[in-house]
Amino acid sequence: VFQLSVPLNFLGSVYRELRQSLLDMETLFNLQKVNVSVKDAPHAKPLVLKGGEIRFENVSFGYHHERKILHNVSFTIPAGHKIAVVGPSGCGKSTILRLLFRYYDVDSGRILIDGQDIRDVTVESLRQAIGVVPQDTPLFNNTIAHNIRYGRTDASDEEVRAVARRARIEDTIAKFPDGYQTKVGERGLMISGGEKQRLAVSRLLLKDPPIMFFDEATSALDTATETSLLQNINGILKEKQRTSVFVAHRLRTIFDSDQIIVLKDGVVAEQGTHQELVDGGTVYASMWAAQEVLSVGGEPAAEKEA
Ligand code: ATP
Repeated sequence: VFQLSVPLNFLGSVYRELRQSLLDMETLFNLQKVNVSVKDAPHAKPLVLKGGEIRFENVSFGYHHERKILHNVSFTIPAGHKIAVVGPSGCGKSTILRLLFRYYDVDSGRILIDGQDIRDVTVESLRQAIGVVPQDTPLFNNTIAHNIRYGRTDASDEEVRAVARRARIEDTIAKFPDGYQTKVGERGLMISGGEKQRLAVSRLLLKDPPIMFFDEATSALDTATETSLLQNINGILKEKQRTSVFVAHRLRTIFDSDQIIVLKDGVVAEQGTHQELVDGGTVYASMWAAQEVLSVGGEPAAEKEA
């Protein structure tokens, strides 16, 4: 029995790892929309995490040589800080996240996590250290519980419930025909954009990686649900000292970040706290003013839950 169980346990953990990396691949291929494989350097070592400091040093990058998306982008996110990347559509916000996952290598400059160039560490250890709530989360034709548990396949029912509670979707799940056992997807219940986003947040909280990205993670939620979900997320980030990067168009969801990076035309146009940028900036200040005007008299129609 012993002789048999050792290789089976081993296979079990390989299987779990494989499933975990399949999940990451899936969410991330979705994030990048193309299939690119970056390989480990021959000398690659596992990433050694200290606090999760992220550093971009003069990073330039383009998907194609003739069109650069980022030009000499530099910034540092101290360990445990929450930062936001904002800017016009298509300016390269999600690209920054893709580069951090090393879906692509930079053309010049470097990206460091806790002082290690991400090209010198194994891709597996890098992706293990990071979790993301992507713009569009794939769901499996399976139960709600299964979809959440994909964040960490050995999680208990209680752990699944706990993250669903913190992701503000517990009450919604309770109203589904079979609760956590309700099947979703093509052959089951069709769920809304806002429900999908909260399932994605549940998954991320269950994975509980040291570095967390939120790419328009709450954009389909109504304001009240979004506000309380963000409060919960902020509480978790603070309590666990997680390093986080938020990409968002709605500035009121990120104005409390430790640092806001404003990207425009592929360069860092401005950087600072909300107050610093409102007082002294130009790009952010005008984005903020425009959104303030929009929100007078209630929520714009586009903000209602899908
Ligand atoms: P949004 O706010 O609309 O989500 P963004 O700032 O996150 O936009 P990115 O997704 O980073 O923008 O894209 C930056 C630019 O790179 C865009 O012009 C986009 O069309 C282009 N781009 C993104 N992915 C690829 C790709 N795989 N191949 C070629 N070009 C790409």
